[in-house]
Amino acid sequence: MNDSPTVALVTGASRGIGRAIAIELGKMGHVVVGTATTQQGADNISVYMAEQGIKGKGFAVDVSSDDSVSTLMAAITEEFSAPLVVVNNAGITRDNLLMRMKAAEWQDVINTNLGSMYRICKATVKGMTKARFGRIVNISSVVGSSGNAGQTNYSASKAGIEGFTRSLAIEIGSRGITVNAVAPGFIATDMTKDLPEAQTSALLSQIPLARLGQPEEIAGAVGFLVSDKGAYVTGETLHVNGGMYMG
Ligand code: NAP
Repeated sequence: MNDSPTVALVTGASRGIGRAIAIELGKMGHVVVGTATTQQGADNISVYMAEQGIKGKGFAVDVSSDDSVSTLMAAITEEFSAPLVVVNNAGITRDNLLMRMKAAEWQDVINTNLGSMYRICKATVKGMTKARFGRIVNISSVVGSSGNAGQTNYSASKAGIEGFTRSLAIEIGSRGITVNAVAPGFIATDMTKDLPEAQTSALLSQIPLARLGQPEEIAGAVGFLVSDKGAYVTGETLHVNGGMYMG
């Protein structure tokens, strides 16, 4: 067991849920590497971390690209050390009914949301195995379990993340590495802010806690799984959704 500070990689830390996770892990004392898709976004991450007294910095990466992930990993290892905490949070939506869904909308979502798990976990488990300690948290979604019209691509990617999480947890548990997923419900971020009013009120009517979740409420769940308190949880998907779906 180990609550001592380590290098924590959080993808998609420029805004929304990833930013809240980066701040949570930073406040736990970890050196945080947060990513954005642009250098400008990476610089903004470095600024908010410095403002909050968090050690670490922002880097640019495209998690859908093998080369970009390889370059990022080399840079992190050179400047810091191999990350022993990894939060795969970067994700996109390209919503459409299947009958209208373009091949690119399918591929982009699967490659970004699910392909990134393969790329980033493969690049980081070696370091964790050497250290005989690691924490991987993959951000899924409630729709990976519930389904949602217009999101066949997105919900397939998220259900895939949960299966990936269980299999990897079995593969590397004996090395002291836990692998879990957190499945947020309807959280107030850029991803949900442009939903039509009617869709938002229909969604709210299905949430027993009758409100959107806040990014910090997802970050708290991630913090628990990363901490010593979560050390015996692995292969699990923790639903944080205000009760909108109860498996
Ligand atoms: P968001 O506000 O849209 O932010 C997405 C983040 O991912 C940004 O930091 C973005 O970087 C990054 N990103 C996008 N494409 C990328 C790529 N190809 N390579 C690297 N980074 C990339 O999203 P969010 O609402 O915080 O969602 C975060 C995660 O939670 C996602 O996996 C999402 O599926 C999941 N989730 C969200 C909700 C919700 O209600 N919001 C619900 C369930 C699950 P840039 O800023 O540079 O674009």
